[in-house]
Formats: sequence, structure tokens, C-alpha cells
Amino acid sequence: MAREPKEALKKRTLKIIRLLKKAYPDAKCALAHRSPLELLVATILSAQCTDKRVNLVTKDLFRKYRSADDYANASRAEFEQDIRSTGFYRNKAKNIIACCKAIVSEHGGKIPETLEELVKLSGIGRKTANVVLGNAFNTPGLVVDTHVRRISRKLKLTGKADPVKIEFDLMPIVPKEEWTQFSHLLIHHGRACCVARRPKCSECPVEELCPSSAA
Ligand code: SF4
Repeated sequence: MAREPKEALKKRTLKIIRLLKKAYPDAKCALAHRSPLELLVATILSAQCTDKRVNLVTKDLFRKYRSADDYANASRAEFEQDIRSTGFYRNKAKNIIACCKAIVSEHGGKIPETLEELVKLSGIGRKTANVVLGNAFNTPGLVVDTHVRRISRKLKLTGKADPVKIEFDLMPIVPKEEWTQFSHLLIHHGRACCVARRPKCSECPVEELCPSSAA
């Protein structure tokens, strides 16, 4: 297939965004949180776990641990049990405690507000950093999770497989002020319609703009 010219690709992307916004006007971050710290913890817990399960666990967790200091000084064994049902709890506990230790010692207990500083924290990759930037600090962040990765490829907005490379392919074609919402829209679309095993192409709001449509 011939490569789509950059300007045409940008226009098609804008149309996709417009249609998805119309289809999913309420798409937003599904992780319950009231502060950047809560969102950071919830995002780490959400790896390989549903947002619903994470919200159940954080309901009690956020009452018990209220500051970065609380997490930094948590007993590892006890904290592992507190988050056990989110899966991969040993690794998640290790990362959250180490990350909060660094937030306390290097940032005075406050979550840093730049991508560069966030990705230096233990267990924080670009995906988690962009979730926090976009949803807690109102700084545009393009989150490439499993849905964004799959659907961007189906829509031929990228041909890459690596999430970081996909993020860099999307950056110039999605307007910066839309980065955060674009991720929410694709995540929503991935759950509601373009599901991994059997995409519902005949019901898809962007079907006419999708080169992979099976409708
Ligand atoms: S047309 Fe099908 S493959 Fe393309 S985005 Fe819609 S549901 Fe996914």
C-alpha cells in the first residue's frame, strides 16, 4: 500500500478525532483519584488489571496512605497484601514504595510535573508519566496503552509496534491540545467497539476512515 501523504494523514486523523468525540462525548480517565499522587499510584496498579478492580482497591488504599511519605514508609509485606488483588503485587509494591521514596527525598514529597522528571522515578515509564501529566496536571500527554497501540495500527496512523515509537508517530499528526483526549477516545473505542478479538466494524463510527475495516 502506498504511503499516505503527511497532510492527508493529518486531515484523516482530525476527522477521526471529531467522529470519536461525537460517539464518546464522556470519554475520560476511568481511574478514581483526587490528586496527582493518587493517580500515579492508581496508574501503576492498573498494569495488567481492570480499572474497575483498581478503583475497588484504591477506595480503601487511599484512606490508609495519604501522602508520598506514607507510601515511602509502608511495610512492604503489608502493602503487598493491601494491593494483592490487582495482580503482580510484589513488583507493584516495590515500585510504588521506591517511587514514593524518591518523591520524598528528591522532590519534597510533591509529584514532579515534567515528563523528564517523572520517567526517572522507579517503575514509571512514558505511559504512566503521560497519564499523570494529562489528567492531573493538564499538560498534554499521549498515552499509548494496549488499545491505543492496536487501534492506531488498525487506522494506519502508525506502522510501528513499539509504544514509544507509536507515541512519536502520533505526536505530529494529533494536535497537541488533543493528546490527552485522543488517548481517552481510543481507549473508550477499544472497549466499546474496536475490541481486540472481534472488532465491530459494521457499528464503528470511524469505519469509513479505517483502512482495516472488515465491514
Ligand atoms: S473499522 Fe473496525 S478495525 Fe477499523 S477502527 Fe472501526 S472497529 Fe476497528
